[in-house]
Amino acid sequence: MSAHPVITKVESIIVSLPRQTPYLGPLGAGEKVTERGYVVRGGNRTLYPTRDSSVLVKLTAEDGTIGWGETYGIIAPQATAAIIDDVLGPLLIGRDPRDVTTIGEDFYDLMRVRGHFGGYFIDAIAALDIGLWDLHGKLLGQPVVKLLGGQRQQRLPAYVSGLPGQTLAQRVAVAEQWRAQGFRAFKYHAVVSFDGIVEEMRALREALGHEVELMVDLHWKFTAHEALQLIDRLLPYRPLFVEAPCAPEDQEGQVQVARHSRVPLALGEELATVFEVRQRMQNRAMSIVQPEMGHTGISQFMQIGRMAHAFHMRVMPHASIGMGIYQAASLHAAAALPNVPWHEYQHTVLDRNLAFMDTAMCCRQGFFEMPQGAGLGIEPLPTLWQYIAPKAGS
Ligand code: MG
Repeated sequence: MSAHPVITKVESIIVSLPRQTPYLGPLGAGEKVTERGYVVRGGNRTLYPTRDSSVLVKLTAEDGTIGWGETYGIIAPQATAAIIDDVLGPLLIGRDPRDVTTIGEDFYDLMRVRGHFGGYFIDAIAALDIGLWDLHGKLLGQPVVKLLGGQRQQRLPAYVSGLPGQTLAQRVAVAEQWRAQGFRAFKYHAVVSFDGIVEEMRALREALGHEVELMVDLHWKFTAHEALQLIDRLLPYRPLFVEAPCAPEDQEGQVQVARHSRVPLALGEELATVFEVRQRMQNRAMSIVQPEMGHTGISQFMQIGRMAHAFHMRVMPHASIGMGIYQAASLHAAAALPNVPWHEYQHTVLDRNLAFMDTAMCCRQGFFEMPQGAGLGIEPLPTLWQYIAPKAGS
């Protein structure tokens, strides 16, 4: 055995769990599920899954220690698994997990001249990066947050994301139920604001009072002027932020909204690396950045978070659909940063999927409780393996 155990085995695993209600709530008029289980939401013309699918990676070191990573698998998870199995996994064999950030840089370089700055290739790197940090922590007997510069927060304030319900009254009732459980911040999604975006915020503010924070995700739907007019109408209800008003390609629009809006602008869930975020920060296209751990991995998340600090911006991490491993990674990274007032909480996904995980991590009474122990502090339970999905070509 080497002086420090190196990686001897890399496996990708796709899991796919059925859901009763699709993510973002019941289907709207004209929304149909494809034969592969995807649905285009009319509100933002974006493809969403009707199942909870995810790509896990299992890294084995030569002493038998196992590291777990995870990335986005919500659409075509076979593509990401193929990149891990065919391209990156073999290159990881024999590497020292202590070199985790270095390995991520090496991997990023492999495909940059072919234009792979984001998407499936970078997701695959993120999964391995998370798995390497887990392994690194386990081999040292330390929680990952302690290896990231130190732990600043013991638990993280959580905002409730998504208020599923067919009617506005149902959606307000969902928020009221969460408030009764101690949550103080709520974000709704413009894509399923069937009664109107302003009407929904007014209804929430009237029902929940002035002690709570409200946010709205605009889902890239508007031009800059449309967004500014909308924000003017939202202003009486004091939103904490508005998210993603303009298309990701419309950087000028984002800057224009950020400059003229009196409500802070949040964006960044679709951006995977510090290279994609840097120019937007320089241009002041937002005042809150929302890195998504499933795309960034821990190493890029920390770079983005530290750079946000240098620009005096807040970090409010995005949290989407996974089994909980990259959620745990996001808490470790967020707890190490000085500028994280809130972390997103996807209750319709996380609570159900954590039943398949061995972890102390949970979200209750308005806070994420940190996972415990060495590494990330989360392991799949054997019950998860009944939901393994086939890989491409198998
Ligand atoms: Mg969003």
